[in-house]
Amino acid sequence: MSSVQTICVLGSTGSIGVSTLDVIARHPDRYQVFALTAHSQVVKLAQQCEQFSPQVAVVGSAAAATELQVLLKEKKLMTQVLYGPQALCDVASASECNTVMAAIVGAAGLPASLAAAKAGKKVLLANKEALVMSGQLFINAVTDSGAVLLPIDSEHNAIFQCLPFNYGRQAQAHGISKVILTASGGPFLNRSLESLSDVTPDEAVAHPNWVMGRKISIDSATMMNKGLEVIEAHWLFATPADQIDVLIHPQSVIHSMVSYEDGSVLAQLGNPDMRTPIAYGLAYPERINSGVAPLDLVKIAKLNFEAPDFSRFPCLSLAYAALRAGQTASIILNASNEIAVQAFLDGKIGFRMIDQIIARVMDKIALSVADDIDSVLECDRVTRRVTSSLIAS
Ligand code: NAD
Ligand code: MG
Repeated sequence: MSSVQTICVLGSTGSIGVSTLDVIARHPDRYQVFALTAHSQVVKLAQQCEQFSPQVAVVGSAAAATELQVLLKEKKLMTQVLYGPQALCDVASASECNTVMAAIVGAAGLPASLAAAKAGKKVLLANKEALVMSGQLFINAVTDSGAVLLPIDSEHNAIFQCLPFNYGRQAQAHGISKVILTASGGPFLNRSLESLSDVTPDEAVAHPNWVMGRKISIDSATMMNKGLEVIEAHWLFATPADQIDVLIHPQSVIHSMVSYEDGSVLAQLGNPDMRTPIAYGLAYPERINSGVAPLDLVKIAKLNFEAPDFSRFPCLSLAYAALRAGQTASIILNASNEIAVQAFLDGKIGFRMIDQIIARVMDKIALSVADDIDSVLECDRVTRRVTSSLIAS
């Protein structure tokens, strides 16, 4: 049995954060929580502090910190309360923790995820936007520090499980011909593009197989989620765009596959429950109980597959184009998507406007080089400004 891991959960009040704590709670002999972080859900965070007694809790603002301190005092808890982006980086790189679950949503999660990578932690990466934005920079941080990067996104976790143990980011050396990302197709798989003009946020977040945060749920409906995952796969496994395929598989039972030159295709299967990849990441290279029900293939009976329809899911094409165009294109894709998705959730634009706005912003902003964190964040800021003013007009 390995020694106790001390864990920082960035984004503990979110969908991935809650699933992570569910797995941790099943193995108190293996895991100890060092820090929990949340943006604004103070009451939920206080409850988590009561259950897991972290040394530190981080929130988004001074007001939220004061509120949390009052709640913790009522519960007679000793947890130290910090707030703001620097505090997130501090807990993610603190010497007291050895494992970081990076589960903040969106670009907001990049600095702390990168801090964990630079500090040589075992990084469980759910925050795909961080890798999409920073690409090589993130991978270099992992390599330079000797961090262990374990993908939590179910598709990438599946691929990781299907790669040779000594993979070392060299597809050619291992006879890999394709990485195949499966996609459920989301709630609008069989809808025509025209019929999507007036869908509501609640219709769009209602994913058929997975329960997730609102942003990623909208990304699943537009299939931008799969587009971001194509870019994520490129960086995680050093796979060129041409060797990454997307396959529609509505049941979400096969979480992804790796196809080898000898004709073998290795797949990882399971019920669609994020606790499986989370448990795999936590215990790697061991296996532990995750609380996920065993897969009953007799009950499921049928697994279906079809090719993705790029014309009905323009976001998927936009993402492949961004990957081929270079790093700043991916930053622009990600930032314009975050702003457009929020505008849709806020009722400011229709569903179909999401891909149109991203396409226009990608056309509008000239590509440059973003090979350090400041230029990545600057490109992200500029894109947010341009996208917001486009939406306002
Ligand atoms: P969520 O919206 O449920 O939770 C997001 C978490 O991030 C919350 O704890 C919130 O407090 C925190 N947060 C939000 N904005 C913040 C800010 N500005 N600063 C600091 N913290 C902030 O999201 P989720 O569904 O748990 O997804 C988290 C990440 O994991 C995303 O990057 C998503 O793409 C990825 N992911 C999620 C799933 C899933 O099943 N939910 C699957 C694969 C990958
Ligand atoms: Mg995924």
